[in-house]
Parts: sequence; structure tokens; C-alpha cells
Amino acid sequence: MSERTGLHPSNILSEDIDRASDRDARSMNIAVGRAVADVVKSTLGPRGRDKMLADQGGGLAVTNDGDTVLSKMNIEHPAGKIVADVASTQKTEVSDGTTTAVILTGSLLEEAERLLDDGIHSTTIERGYHQAIDRVLELLPEITIDITTDSGILQEVAATAMTGKNVDVARDHLSSLVVEAVRTVDQRDSDDIVVEPVGSGTPKESELLEGVLIEEERIHDHMPYNIDDATVLVYGSDLTFDDAQSDPAIDITNPDQFETIIEEEERQFRDMAEEVSEADVVLVDGNVDDMVMHFLAEEGILAFDQVDREDQRAIVRATDAWVVSDLDELSHSDLGHVRSVERRIFGDDEYVAFTSDTDPGVVTLLLRSGTEHVGKEMEIALTDAVDAVEIALEERAVLPGGGASEIELARRLRSDADAIDGREQLAVEAFANALETIPRTLARTAGRDPIDVLTELRTRHAEGAIATGLDATTGDVAEMTARGVVEPLQVKNAAIDSAVDATVTIVRIDDMIAASNFNEPNTDILS
Ligand code: ADP
Ligand code: MG
Repeated sequence: MSERTGLHPSNILSEDIDRASDRDARSMNIAVGRAVADVVKSTLGPRGRDKMLADQGGGLAVTNDGDTVLSKMNIEHPAGKIVADVASTQKTEVSDGTTTAVILTGSLLEEAERLLDDGIHSTTIERGYHQAIDRVLELLPEITIDITTDSGILQEVAATAMTGKNVDVARDHLSSLVVEAVRTVDQRDSDDIVVEPVGSGTPKESELLEGVLIEEERIHDHMPYNIDDATVLVYGSDLTFDDAQSDPAIDITNPDQFETIIEEEERQFRDMAEEVSEADVVLVDGNVDDMVMHFLAEEGILAFDQVDREDQRAIVRATDAWVVSDLDELSHSDLGHVRSVERRIFGDDEYVAFTSDTDPGVVTLLLRSGTEHVGKEMEIALTDAVDAVEIALEERAVLPGGGASEIELARRLRSDADAIDGREQLAVEAFANALETIPRTLARTAGRDPIDVLTELRTRHAEGAIATGLDATTGDVAEMTARGVVEPLQVKNAAIDSAVDATVTIVRIDDMIAASNFNEPNTDILS
């Protein structure tokens, strides 16, 4: 257009507005998107490296998790943000597979760029990628392996999901805890398995608590630490009584009135004491009066104050209590019950563990580690594993990992591509190439030659061994099911889906306009 009119469109915009069009905008966006994907490439798989992230305040994080890396990088470029969002979407939807999703986006972008350079139109690429993904969704169920719900394979799913995240020493132990946790709550609900890193110890000392853990200390030295078979009151207010002396409505004119006031206070106190003493453990949202504290301690009641809302919710779930906000309306059915309440010390921190009666509504994976870095990484690994096992249990099927499913999908896509009319065929083939980036990257991180590995894998798959992948821990090509490298379908689905969405979004953009006061002050998107 500019060539024809001799007028660059940006001439109609004021000077402080940058603009990049068509090929410029597109190739810049693709380059940025690929660069972002390249950042996480080396972290893929069991032999993936870690990234150290340092913030300006001296904070450090060491991680192998795609989403953590990209979200901490504060990427500003919009195309970069689109790729980083792929990781966060994946994390929110299925937890695991964040690096895979980002690497796929990078390679779909790379393939798209090549096609664009060959003169293929972006809408053709878009159509071809969509045809490919439709086909992938049909093919995936064909290459899954049906599973029984026995613990063995579920533990393998957990172990595969935890891969590469600093937990190798305790992988067996942790994956059996994960399976036990999922089995105990027996339904998919993200709130009912709490993953709680408590530090101090070694990963092998991690345990499953059938209930919840809160970081609290008793409010009086004479209160017990531990109680078995305990009735629990969760009180959503202050445990104080009205200070009648400071009530402006009472005008003290003679000494007798003092007595009335004191009597009134005592009456209130007796009432409160009576209500509360039905419980063995009292968790108070706000403050507790000194006098009440003494009384509770004398009665052998264990009490905590300033219990935050999140902990209250956890206690409610673990004990089946209701939050009571008015003691006058307290009824016995509002009280919860637990098998035991127990003080736990981890490092310098004091916690209280509530173990539910039979059939706990919530369980806690108590993660022990020597350092906070490892604790954080374990938290991610175990969250990924919990979700993976839940998904696998739901689907009753898994895919072979180690690049096996990507190789098989690529092979079948290529053979289907011949039947596609038009240039979309090229985009479908490009899609197949992009999928193979996963085994290629796994080979690289495992120190194997990617070409050798890919050739070997293709040959084996052509012979019908569709579960053959690269065992990155040993470095050899093998049946992934025999090596226990299996992953849920939905994790792969979600990764491919969001990778295509992001790629198409980026490839479609043909014009970038950075207006200085658009969303945020100084959106310097073209720098
Ligand atoms: P993501 O963030 O995508 O989950 P990971 O670093 O967890 O990235 O790596 C996941 C990939 O590693 C998957 O493709 C999975 O099949 C593969 N993988 C896991 N364990 C092994 C193994 N022992 N050998 C080869 N590949 C493995
Ligand atoms: Mg993973």
C-alpha cells in the first residue's frame, strides 16, 4: 500500500506512535516467540538443566519448571507474553507439560516462518495447523494404552510427571505418597490434596497426613499440645466479652453500679465459657481475652487465635465443623471432630496437624527438604504428579512418554498429509516436524545425537513399535511402557492445543501499533 500511494500509513499517526507492519511485524513476533521458547528448551525431561533466576532484590530461584521460569522473567514484548501465557495456561489447566507446550509453540513458529518465507499465506498455515490438530485429536486415543487402576501404573504416571525436578532420590517414595493421596480423597478436586513444603529434613521423610496442617502455636502455656479424639470449634470472631465499663450508655453515679457491671461481665463470661467448653480445640478468627485464655487453659482446652481464613477453611474441611460467628447460636452440630490434634515442629516452625476421622475430605502431602529451593521445586513436582494421577485415573488411559507419542503422531500425520489437497498439506507436514522437536530436545538434553535418536525411533515406529521412545535416564531407545515412562492424554492434548492457539495468534498479527497511552503508560512494545 505504501508503495502505491507513496504515503506510509504511519504518517497519519502522531510522532510518538510506533508502527510495524506485515512482514516486519510478523517476523519480529516470530523471532521473539521463538527466543522465549528457546529459554526453556534445555530444561526438558529427566536430564533437563535447571535455571537460576535472580531478582533485583537478591532473591534467587532455581527451577526446571517452564511456567516458573517464564513468569519470573517479566517478559514485556507482547509476542513473548503470548508464548509465556502458553505455560501459565497449561499450568492452570493440567499442571504438568508446561515446557512441552512452550517448546511446541517455538517449533510451530519456526515451521510457520519457513512456510511464510516460501510464500505460503498465513491463512493457509492456520488452516493446515487446524487440520493437523483435528487429526491429532483423532489419533491420540488410537495410541493410548488402557490402564487398570492398580497402583503400579499410577505410580509410574506420578514418577514421570515429577521427572527432572530435583526429587530423584525419593521418587519412589514420593510417587507412592501421591497415589495414596489421590486414592484417599477419591475424586478430582484441586482443593482436597494440599501440597505443603515444610522444609527441614530430607525428601524421603515426606509423609501423607490424612487431614491438614496449620502453622500455629497454642495461646497459653498451660494448654495441652496434643489431644486425641477431639471436638473442634471454629469461631469466626473475637473471643472477648463486651467491656461494660467502657460502655458510654452506662453512666456510673454510685459505687453500687460497679458491682452491676462486674456481675454483668461475669455472666457474659460464664455463658461464653459454657458454650466453648463443649469443644476440646478452639480456633479463633480474632483475639482471645486474657481471662478467657486462662479459663480455656484451666479446662484443658487447646486454643489458637488469629487463625487466618485459609487455615479456617482447611480445618472446616478436615473436621466437618461449621464456622460459628455467634456463640449464642452455637449448636452441637456446628462442632467438628478429628481423630487427633498434634503439635509438629519442622525446623524453627511450629505447626499443628489435624488428623481426620475415617474418610478424610482433605489430605496433606507434607514435603520435607533441606533447602527452600528444593522445597519449592518439590512443591511443583508433586502438584504436577497429583494432577497427572488424577487425570490418568479419570481417563483410564495413558500415553507412552519419552517422545514416543510425538514420533507416532508425526508419522501418522505425514502419511495422512499426502491425501490433503492444496498447500495445507505443507502445513500439516510442518506440524509433524514440530512435534518431533520433543524427542529431539529430549535426546539433546540426554547427551545423545538427536539425528541418530530420531532415525532409530522412526524406524522402530515404522515397524509398529509405537511405544518406543528415548529413555533419557539411560540414554537408550526403548519401550516406554517397560521403562515406566507414561503420561496422561490430557496433558499432551492441552499442550498441543495451546501451542497451536498461540502460534496462530502470533502468525495472524500483521500490524503492531504501540500507542504511548494505551493500556499502561509507556508500552514500548516495539523496542
Ligand atoms: P514439562 O514441563 O513439559 O512437563 P518436563 O521437564 O517435565 O517438562 O519433561 C517432560 C517430558 O519428559 C515428557 O515428554 C516426558 O515424556 C519426558 N520424560 C519423562 N521421564 C522420562 C524418561 N525417563 N525418559 C525420557 N523422557 C522422559
Ligand atoms: Mg513435567
